[in-house]
Amino acid sequence: MNGTMHFLNSLGVMALLAIFYGSLLRRRMTDALRKAVMGVLFGGAAAIAVLQPIHIGSGVLVDARNLIIGCACAFFGPLGASATLVTAAIVRVQAGGVGIPAGLASMMIAYLMGAAWEQSVRSRLNSTLVSFLALGAMISLSLLGIVLLPADVRMKLLSEIGLFSIGFNLLGAVVLGSFIERERRHAARESRLSNEAKTDPLTGLLNRRSFQERYERQVQERNRTGSALLVVDLDHFKDVNDANGHDIGDIVLQSVGRLLNETVRQGDVVARIGGEEFVVFLPNTELGNARLLAERIRQKVQGAGVEVDGRQITITTSVGGHWHHGIVDLAVALKQADIALYRAKEGGRNRVEFGPAV
Ligand code: GH3
Ligand code: MG
Ligand code: MG
Repeated sequence: MNGTMHFLNSLGVMALLAIFYGSLLRRRMTDALRKAVMGVLFGGAAAIAVLQPIHIGSGVLVDARNLIIGCACAFFGPLGASATLVTAAIVRVQAGGVGIPAGLASMMIAYLMGAAWEQSVRSRLNSTLVSFLALGAMISLSLLGIVLLPADVRMKLLSEIGLFSIGFNLLGAVVLGSFIERERRHAARESRLSNEAKTDPLTGLLNRRSFQERYERQVQERNRTGSALLVVDLDHFKDVNDANGHDIGDIVLQSVGRLLNETVRQGDVVARIGGEEFVVFLPNTELGNARLLAERIRQKVQGAGVEVDGRQITITTSVGGHWHHGIVDLAVALKQADIALYRAKEGGRNRVEFGPAV
């Protein structure tokens, strides 16, 4: 009974930590830092386990620490789990008793087994349930540490706790593994959905809504030089579709998207806001440089062309630009850039026009 409560407690702590891990997954931080934080927190869980052990004979302690260390290494990698291992080891040494060498050896085995599972077992097993059971079984090899115990305690420990301990490692690895997998799955799904909501599926560029968000955020930032908005509209694109088919038209749009991304500077924002209409926002840019960039875009589109089935499709684009100082609503800037674009189309297409500077 005492043992069951102990392990259920440890499992509860680990489940809470798995949920906490889920919230870390939704925060912006490097994967290495996230794993390191989890390694340290699992160290805390291991310390709690060691401090509330089940006593078998004099100075021999049994607890969930091996499960915790093995899982930390399996799910957060050897680096993060080294914090778990060290914390558990220090607390175990402080707790004293004849079982210290056996305890430390078993922790080391659990750590290595977690690493071995992550490195070479996990990917070989198709079923997640079977792979978690394998992890539990591998962590149970930490029982081998008992060879370092005095002979009389060794037998007592094996008969009293051996089977129980193996059963609990299997159960613990399955429960904790499922929790962690579930958090990872949910966080990955959320991030996928949020990316999909922000991007245009054809080109992978930002869509109109997320462009508006980025524009509003960036135009507020301190900006002494001014900023520019370019509307890039492909010329006679309807004819490109009519002559080559809509699918080829899509390939052309994708290549223009890539070309825009390659041409702008870091910090500029590119989006596809309509069928064959792109926008580029240039924060911190003088009018002269905005004109140069617009002209470079025009030249590159003209020069690039797209080869489909051995045929070269050439396209051109007109660019309407609007340059301003201070904070200007996107709708206002777009309207001005559209007026300039209209002039570019009227003037014969394949050209750049800017509206009056504000
Ligand atoms: P202009 O030089 O005046 O801009 O002429 P245009 O033909 O480019 O302009 P218009 O607005 O008349 O036509 C835009 C064309 O863009 C019509 C449509 O078939 C095409 N288009 C819009 N969205 C897509 C798309 O997602 N894929 C493809 N392949 N074509 C698209
Ligand atoms: Mg067009
Ligand atoms: Mg258009």
